[in-house]
Amino acid sequence: MTPGGLPQASIRFDHVTLRLLLGLALLAPLGQTALMAKLYFQYSTMNAGKSTLLLQAAHNYNERGMATYLLTASFDDRAGKGRIGSRIGLNREADQFGSSEDLFAKIQTELERGQAEGAPIKCIFVDEAQFLSRDQVWQLARVVDDLGGPVMAYGLRVDFMGELFPGSAALLALADEMREVRTICHCGKKATMVVRQDENGMVLTDGEQVQIGGNETYVSLCRRHWREAVGDL
Ligand SMILES: [Zn+2]
Repeated sequence: MTPGGLPQASIRFDHVTLRLLLGLALLAPLGQTALMAKLYFQYSTMNAGKSTLLLQAAHNYNERGMATYLLTASFDDRAGKGRIGSRIGLNREADQFGSSEDLFAKIQTELERGQAEGAPIKCIFVDEAQFLSRDQVWQLARVVDDLGGPVMAYGLRVDFMGELFPGSAALLALADEMREVRTICHCGKKATMVVRQDENGMVLTDGEQVQIGGNETYVSLCRRHWREAVGDL
C-alpha cells in the first residue's frame, strides 16, 4: 500500500445506534426519562462520527427542554471551557476535564447547580473518553449508581499501535452498555484500527499515544489493511 494514498473512511451508523437515537426522540415527548441511569460507552476508531452522534443525542434532549452537561478532555490538563466539534461542522461548548480531576465532584456540583436553577440535568455526555483515567471511569460509574444520572461516554477503542487507551480499557470493563460506532476501511470492511501518518504520508509505528499540535493525520482501516500499513505481515 502506498502511504498517503489512503482514502477517507466513510460514515455508517449501525442499527443499534440508530435505534438509540430514535428511542431518544420517541421517549422524550412522553415526558419520560429518555435513558436509564446507566454508564454507556460508544466506541469506534477515528473519524467514525462519534462527536456527531454525541451532539445529536444532546440536541435531542435539549429540544425537549431537558438540560445536559457536556465534558471533553483537556489537552493541556487544565479544566476550563472547551468545544466538542464534529467533522461535519457541528460544535458546542463543553467543560473540560483534566487528567487528575475528580469527575464525581465536578458532575455533582453541576447537577446541584442545575437543580437550583430549575433546569435539572438529565444526561451527562463525555467526549474523548479514551483519555479518562481508570479512577475517573469509576467516578462516572458512581455518578450513575449514587446520583442516578445517565452518563454517555464516547471514545476511541485503540491507539495507532493497536493498544487500548486507558479510559477505553476501563470503560470496556465497567460500562453497563456498550455500542460500536461503525465506519469502514477503503476496502469496504469494518474499520477497527487506525494508522498515524506524518506530514509526508509515511505511516508511523511508534511514538507517544497522544500527540498534540503535530501535523500527523489518522486513517481508519480494517485489521488486515492496518497490518499491511504498519508492515506486520
Ligand atoms: Zn481494509
